[in-house]
Amino acid sequence: MMTEMRTIRTLLIANRGEIACRIIRTARSLGIRTVAVYSEADAAALHVAAADTACPIGPAPAADSYLRIDRLIEAAKATGADAIHPGYGFLSENPELARACAEADILFIGPDVPAIEAMGSKAAAKDIMAKAGVPLVPGYHGADQGADTLEKAAENIGFPVLLKASAGGGGKGMRVVERAEDLADGIAGAKREAAAAFGDDRLLIEKYLTRPRHVEVQVFADRHGNAVHLFERDCSVQRRHQKVVEEAPAPGLDEIVRTSMAKAAIDAAKAIDYVGAGTVEFIMDEDGAFYFMEMNTRLQVEHPVTEAITGEDLVAWQIRVAEGGTLPLTQDRISASGHALEVRIYAEDPEREFLPQTGRLSRLAFPEDMDGVRVDTGVIEGDSVSVHYDPMIAKLITHGRDRAEALRRMSRALGEVRIAGLANNVPYLKRIVEHQAFIAGGVDTRFIETYREDLAAGGAGEGGTWESDSMPALAAAALLEAERLDVVRQARLGGDPYSPWAMAYGWRLNDSPQHRLTLLHGADELVLLYRLEAGTYVFEQGEKQVRIGVSFHANGRLEARLDGISIHAEAAFEDDAITVFYGGTAHRYVLKTALASGADAGENSGHVAAPMPGKLIAVHVAEGAEVAKGDPLMVLEAMKMEHVIRAPDDGVVAALHYGPGDQVEEGADLLLFETRIAD
Ligand code: ADP
Ligand code: ADP
Ligand code: MG
Repeated sequence: MMTEMRTIRTLLIANRGEIACRIIRTARSLGIRTVAVYSEADAAALHVAAADTACPIGPAPAADSYLRIDRLIEAAKATGADAIHPGYGFLSENPELARACAEADILFIGPDVPAIEAMGSKAAAKDIMAKAGVPLVPGYHGADQGADTLEKAAENIGFPVLLKASAGGGGKGMRVVERAEDLADGIAGAKREAAAAFGDDRLLIEKYLTRPRHVEVQVFADRHGNAVHLFERDCSVQRRHQKVVEEAPAPGLDEIVRTSMAKAAIDAAKAIDYVGAGTVEFIMDEDGAFYFMEMNTRLQVEHPVTEAITGEDLVAWQIRVAEGGTLPLTQDRISASGHALEVRIYAEDPEREFLPQTGRLSRLAFPEDMDGVRVDTGVIEGDSVSVHYDPMIAKLITHGRDRAEALRRMSRALGEVRIAGLANNVPYLKRIVEHQAFIAGGVDTRFIETYREDLAAGGAGEGGTWESDSMPALAAAALLEAERLDVVRQARLGGDPYSPWAMAYGWRLNDSPQHRLTLLHGADELVLLYRLEAGTYVFEQGEKQVRIGVSFHANGRLEARLDGISIHAEAAFEDDAITVFYGGTAHRYVLKTALASGADAGENSGHVAAPMPGKLIAVHVAEGAEVAKGDPLMVLEAMKMEHVIRAPDDGVVAALHYGPGDQVEEGADLLLFETRIAD
């Protein structure tokens, strides 16, 4: 086969954040000039600074900037880019971008349009794979979408079944149906969701495997007829069908299964004349039987674990293949060494149903000088996580000689991550990788559900030492001491009489009576009683007293003397919160001010406000509905996450102010709630 060779001199990256930074890094190392594109929200972003040239492409919402194919092509022309890398997400699996590139004579770093289209529909992909002899999950993916046909198909498959949007992705529009009597409702609901999310209501039905693993194979092909695999990744630890932890190789995978899975993946790629980097996702049953789920025709978020074990740069491979070159290695020369893990660090609050967080990263630091640790990020300290995009802060990747070494490094590396300014999932990730079942390699897609209680803050394996038990008092002492120093400073400067801390407990020097301070830790409210004695804070804890003295050093480092024993920690302050980094864990406490506690002390009646700007994608109740505390009322989608608005108490939804599809601002008055008066 004759393939035209082209040399990329300037590469435009049609993406943002860590992925754009990641691609720029490789392009630079290959001597390629880079062009970043950015929305109005990203003018000062890291990826813009990292590129040689940067081009604005529109307002903050992705639909007006990163998803505008016309503007991307214009930007490429304006900057003389001869190739576009789509990254992942956004337009990476959109055949229209690939087509527009071809028309403009710009190289698209990805497979050809027919391959993207073939895999764009999960149903059509299955037809192709069945013909190529790749095993499929028992199920139905036919064109006939009549209710009768779907119901009959589900019965033949046997319950439980999983309904999926054929056009789906990102874990959206999936529903498990356990019993025949719930099927009709399930189908109607799934169709509605699919139509809303993808503009296409076609469904497919699969047998729902109850304790499967998600194992995927990285494949690569060139235009010279070569196709190889770069081993597998296990991405079983998921939340809402979205990956949380990924690793390579898959722990405990039988060698025969490994080999046949890799072969099936290559068969899948060959069946569609695939070119470039792709991932074939399989779902694997407890007995080792595996089935094709879908193929992602792009680079994957978790590609770094494959890079870690193979020592290869997959973006460099992509570029070489796009230029018309052959794969850098033949199958027999690709080898894997050791074990790698990746975790996705998100601005989300695990203590509040993983509510995505927005705000400024007042502190952001990653482990430095640690062997076998890689950090991929698109933000630096002082940047903000906005409502417009994915709330990912960074990916942390560790590599070791074996899984145990990679795991220990991960645990330590997570312990060295410093994030303050917004709640994040670092402590949660740490609990996952330190969980006995995870250490034992016992992963399946139900992992997070199975160990929900252990993984919750304060669950098994947390606390218990005198230092960890003293953390709230230590945080309080640090807050008080910082405030005291501020008070002293502010007294000199004129001061801010409205400081929330000042209001909370009314500082008075040389005052020894008992004070009270309330800290919020996740969902817990901690009331601390203390007094100041000769520069030391004395906390009453039941019968016991804990005496804490605090002194601050540079960069937020502090030394606390706990009953005379010194401990070294770090503290980061926000307006009304403190994060104490100690013993590899971040402990974040929010000061409950006098004002807030006053408002909170009332009943739960009143207006329920939107916790963040976003789009209402479902309203589960009608006006007048009687609900129990915790019942879901609405679902708000923001930053690619779904957040459930729940009933604050037993009561009645007195008025609804918005409906499905409405865009709401943060603080918008969603509904009026009346608490039921106990009789
Ligand atoms: P992957 O299958 O590569 O692990 P996911 O399924 O986790 O990706 O992500 C769901 C979708 O969101 C994918 O289309 C992915 O490319 C996209 N995505 C995930 N994280 C980001 C990010 N930080 N920036 C842009 N897109 C993202
Ligand atoms: P998406 O396009 O959203 O990535 P996938 O088809 O890849 O959709 O499925 C996402 C996740 O849903 C899988 O990683 C797996 O955890 C779960 N899942 C998919 N199919 C099944 C199934 N048949 N049985 C059980 N779990 C499944
Ligand atoms: Mg998938």
